[in-house]
Amino acid sequence: MERKNAWNTYEEADLVQVNRIAEQYRQFISDCKTERECAVRIREMAEAAGYVSLEKAVREEGSLQPGDKVYAVHKKKLVILFHIGTEPMERGMNILGAHIDSPRLDIKQNPLYEDGEMALLETHYYGGIKKYQWAAIPLALHGTVVKKDGSTVEIAVGEQPGDPVFGISDLLIHLSSEQLQKKAAVVVEGENLNVIVGSRPLKDTEEKEKIREALLGILKEQYGIEEEDFLSAELEAVPAGAARDFGLDRSMIMGYGQDDRICAFTSLLAQLEVQDPAYTSVCLLTDKEEIGSMGATGMQSRYFENVTAEVMQLSGQYSELALRRCLQNSHMLSSDVSAAFDPNYASAFEKKNTAYLGRGMVFNKYTGSRGKSGSNDACAEYIGQLRGIMDGAGVCWQTAELGKVDQGGGGTIAYITANYGMDVIDSGVALLNMHSPWEVSSKADIYEAYRGYGAFLKARWD
Ligand code: MN
Ligand code: MN
Repeated sequence: MERKNAWNTYEEADLVQVNRIAEQYRQFISDCKTERECAVRIREMAEAAGYVSLEKAVREEGSLQPGDKVYAVHKKKLVILFHIGTEPMERGMNILGAHIDSPRLDIKQNPLYEDGEMALLETHYYGGIKKYQWAAIPLALHGTVVKKDGSTVEIAVGEQPGDPVFGISDLLIHLSSEQLQKKAAVVVEGENLNVIVGSRPLKDTEEKEKIREALLGILKEQYGIEEEDFLSAELEAVPAGAARDFGLDRSMIMGYGQDDRICAFTSLLAQLEVQDPAYTSVCLLTDKEEIGSMGATGMQSRYFENVTAEVMQLSGQYSELALRRCLQNSHMLSSDVSAAFDPNYASAFEKKNTAYLGRGMVFNKYTGSRGKSGSNDACAEYIGQLRGIMDGAGVCWQTAELGKVDQGGGGTIAYITANYGMDVIDSGVALLNMHSPWEVSSKADIYEAYRGYGAFLKARWD
């Protein structure tokens, strides 16, 4: 069954909204290039919408009533928002989940060295990347350096027009006959993803590595950082520059980190706008998805369960059993990006069961690979309910699998929250160039996802 192209459904007034949301999103992904930067901005947006700190409410032994809004930030990388509903929480919550970490190159702990009249930084890539895509493009450095005394230095270099940028070299075509015989996976090798940061030696010094010395001097002078401070730093090399309109018709956006900030941002907007929810609305924006959702800020940690318990306690609704019921009775859209059909690589897709740019929000009943292995595989009953909700709200949506059978696969956080016994389905927005430095999305899909999330938060399940 062919789904309709969302653009065909828009009147002038809709187009104003499509462009308004797309522009907010374009700004968000241009400004927020790391999970920490996302968390800071999300918190600001939440506070502007009337959310208060859960931590503070717990400390002050406050209480929560229906209509109250609280947020929790865990280790500056994971954000959860709750808008308390009128229904008892043990009847379940309506949860929007997405992740705010993206593939990138993390600077190693002992990164700085000099070679061939240049200073370079060693990196270890984070998430699945085609390494050759990261050479010969401008990179920016973002992150936090934590000093021994606990003070921190925030770094973001390479985004402003006057900023320098950094980069990874690639071999000139003239000398590449050997390199070009290699498999694409090793054309540029992981250990060679070294970021060039300088080439000017320090004059009048006895030091052997004068370029390295000069760089350390700049770090000290401009940022107050010693070489040892790299040991406790989280610095990320990411594509430099703002997201742009893509296409002569400006129907798309090209930008870094759309996996999965495109779902995170649209889920967040829907959460901030929901009015008087019946079921408690939750927006869960997690970290570490790209490396398996492990760690204290990943979905596999107990943090979500713990803060849900805190919210129930402040609402006078907590018991161990009530918490179990709340989680099991919840409904969730676990949102992440899907692969949009790509006519340049048509053979990777099965055309009837793939997502297309512009056909709206995507639902994936299952993900996984090699016979759905590792997939959450949402219940048909739940999908039936979602069809009613989305059609009822006039949302353009489509269903998809990631590529054709045995082509590969992928998965996200749905299988983790499904462990509570709740209804959860993978959903989200389709991208071209997923996990590349510059991913492409459709403005219509961004708008439909935002509308779909809004409709979901208002859903009643009885
Ligand atoms: Mn993702
Ligand atoms: Mn991903």
